[in-house]
Amino acid sequence: MKSESLCDEKQAMYLRRAIEIEDVNCPGCGESFYVIVTKTFDYDYFTTDIPFAVVRCQSCDLLYLNPRPRLSEISKIYPKEYSAYHFSNIRNPIIRKARNYMQSQKAHRILKLIPKFSESPSILDVGCGSPALLSLIRNASSKPIDLYGNDFNPDIIRDIRKAGFKAIEGNFENVNWQEGFFDVIVMNQVIEHLFDVTGVLRKTHKLLKDKGTLFIETPSDEGMDASLFRHHHWGGYHVPRHLLIFNLKTIQKTLQRFGFLIDKVEYNPSPNFWTSSFRNLLIQKGLPRSITKRMNYKNITCMMFFTVIDVLTKSFHPTSNMRIIARKQAS
Ligand SMILES: [Zn+2]
Repeated sequence: MKSESLCDEKQAMYLRRAIEIEDVNCPGCGESFYVIVTKTFDYDYFTTDIPFAVVRCQSCDLLYLNPRPRLSEISKIYPKEYSAYHFSNIRNPIIRKARNYMQSQKAHRILKLIPKFSESPSILDVGCGSPALLSLIRNASSKPIDLYGNDFNPDIIRDIRKAGFKAIEGNFENVNWQEGFFDVIVMNQVIEHLFDVTGVLRKTHKLLKDKGTLFIETPSDEGMDASLFRHHHWGGYHVPRHLLIFNLKTIQKTLQRFGFLIDKVEYNPSPNFWTSSFRNLLIQKGLPRSITKRMNYKNITCMMFFTVIDVLTKSFHPTSNMRIIARKQAS
């Protein structure tokens, strides 16, 4: 495939940017043997025209990006318009309300994970990207809870403090914090972006109280959209920002290695990946950007249609959005 077909003039500016890449062993188990699943492009932001290989570890089955961008390239692969930073600016009232409803259900779910008799209840949102989820947890709670946000971005740290929460700045694997401190640690659409998943899970185990809870939401390659578009276009690949793609089996193995046992697994609708998968296909087929650029998380028709598909099928088939509730085991 020619990379020129991916872009219009505006995107060509991004395509000329080179990105430094590095070869890595499996971030889950450290082994170096893999098979290539697909090579795909950054269809979401066109940050580079390098094709990225998604590979499957032959030892633990984890999907990961190899080679992947170097950590020093992080500002290039997360452009200013990156959607995770802009969910609060969604204009369509129906999409905004639906998203707020889903997020507030999540906040209630997280709140219920705090043990009833915890003396100093505390929750940490790792790599939170904004204080939005912490605010929903605060609103949902009937009693005071210590709420902490962690991020490496100083602007986000400032927003967390401004919203009245405690902030822990820096890459989570390197932060200095009291061991056995938190009741619940949240990784909401974060673990798939991590450069050092080993360091982060080790740190999580240390900072949780005994039998504390790890709440994870992350893409899963078990969804029907993942199966249909596996060979190139699946939106969940989201290269080069998703460095790891789990499923129930691989996350179970990975968490076990770091002293966690899974208590509960849930699958939620993932209309965004359905939409971006079809969009990626149409981009490659050469449809004009004036059409394909409308196919995103702000498009109400796409969001509603694919939400209905996932809701109707999730009782007998997993979706591409997996929620894991795991318990810390004694070290
Ligand atoms: Zn592995």
